[in-house]
Amino acid sequence: MSHYTPLEEIAAIHTALNQGFRSGKLKSIAYRKQQLLSLAYLIKDNAERFQEAFAADLGRPVLEGAFLEIDGSITEIKTALNSVDKWAKTERPPFSLTWTPMRPAIRKEPKGVCLNIVPFNYPLWLVVSPLAGAIAAGCAMVVKPSELTPAMGALLAELFAKYMDPDLYRVVNGAIPETTKLLDLPWGHILYTGSGRVGKIVAGAAAKTLSPVSLELGGKSPVFVDPKCDLTVGARRLLWGKFVNAGQTCVAPDYVLVPRDFQDTFVAALTEAYNAFYPSGPGASTSLTHIVSSAHTARIKRLIDETKGKTVLGGEADVERKYVAPTVVRDVGPQDSLMSEEIFGPVLPIVPVDSLDEAIAFVNAREHPLVLYVMSQDSAFKSKVFDNTQSGAAIANEYIIHCGVDGLPFGGIGPSGNGYHTGKFSFDMFTHLRAVLDSPGWIDRILGARYPPYDDKKLKA
Ligand code: NAD
Repeated sequence: MSHYTPLEEIAAIHTALNQGFRSGKLKSIAYRKQQLLSLAYLIKDNAERFQEAFAADLGRPVLEGAFLEIDGSITEIKTALNSVDKWAKTERPPFSLTWTPMRPAIRKEPKGVCLNIVPFNYPLWLVVSPLAGAIAAGCAMVVKPSELTPAMGALLAELFAKYMDPDLYRVVNGAIPETTKLLDLPWGHILYTGSGRVGKIVAGAAAKTLSPVSLELGGKSPVFVDPKCDLTVGARRLLWGKFVNAGQTCVAPDYVLVPRDFQDTFVAALTEAYNAFYPSGPGASTSLTHIVSSAHTARIKRLIDETKGKTVLGGEADVERKYVAPTVVRDVGPQDSLMSEEIFGPVLPIVPVDSLDEAIAFVNAREHPLVLYVMSQDSAFKSKVFDNTQSGAAIANEYIIHCGVDGLPFGGIGPSGNGYHTGKFSFDMFTHLRAVLDSPGWIDRILGARYPPYDDKKLKA
């Protein structure tokens, strides 16, 4: 591909960024702020071109591009810009008669030159959110966009060269060979966002160079439905959370656990919300993002076809046009292929259950999800679910937008990932807490007993 970074240039980029980092310019908070500001302008000046890239790569409507990525990216930069002075301040441990005279402190130091490997589904926000934290932390960074979003990859490479300090911030475009080459090199920190399958490859490669690594992965995020819920609002929010970005969202609700005798009522409420979203049918809607590739479309189509007969809404798919209609499938069981993998498409399976205990056991028998959602107005129901499960996040009566809430960490647990970003958590990801101490000579009057020759008198002192 023409915009791919030549393999032979990758090591040289790594060397150049290490030299840039060692030059010391990022020690200046003012310089970090200047780079953050440049990143903000990179987005603001070119918002239309980003929208064109979203349209080319994902067929995404403008409103989704703005709401899901551009606005949130700017917010992340603003937070870093406004907070970097505070975040970067040296901290002191609590007062202690013994240690405080030694002036112990925690210096917030950059980890160095870091690597951010990005998936296709949020190709701007997943570049910017970690990068804002890395810049604030004083790190240099290589960004590796997904090969499935070539328009975004090319645009980022062009704009980074124009707006960002090339000694510190670069884009490397490419697929497996280029990423493998990057992963052969040592990094201050590697952030990988994507599938668990590749996450294992990345963690293995990072182990070889002893590079610290954070993995932001996916999985099947369940929704627990309580009949005691606000069904009208709940159905609308759930369908939005599932169908926005064509279901290609790591925190999308993957499947719904519904009491068996509530399924008909639940489907009726979903149908009403569905018809309001797509009044002339989904085929005529201009509010839909398409699937990123024909291969992914074919995969999702196969999942729908294998549960034929249980589809209650949507169901159409056109591989050539990379189109999958927002789809709801009822009476799905654990053996159905829709339950065999993260769907990552606009298909919502409803899994009927006989009790809340059964629903909790169903989720606990599977890998810890990135998010666990509850639709309920009953605090006992919510507590029971949250207290008896594990997941990256636990969210009631809302979908997806928790990732943008100021001050909340964004990350998984176990197979859905480790490490946190957004806001201060991104700064922390790329910051080394350097313990420092400066002990005055007179301390030996108190701690002199440590020196040989050891004797019992010293032990008792
Ligand atoms: P992916 O794993 O296929 O690709 C992600 C990145 O890994 C790309 O940049 C790609 O070039 C690179 N890559 C692919 N194969 C590789 C290999 N063999 N060696 C080294 N690098 C390789 O993921 P995707 O399909 O782009 O994204 C979808 C997945 O990402 C879903 O599972 C989703 O849940 C997850 N995701 C997670 C988060 C999160 O924050 N937790 C956010 C978005 C997406």
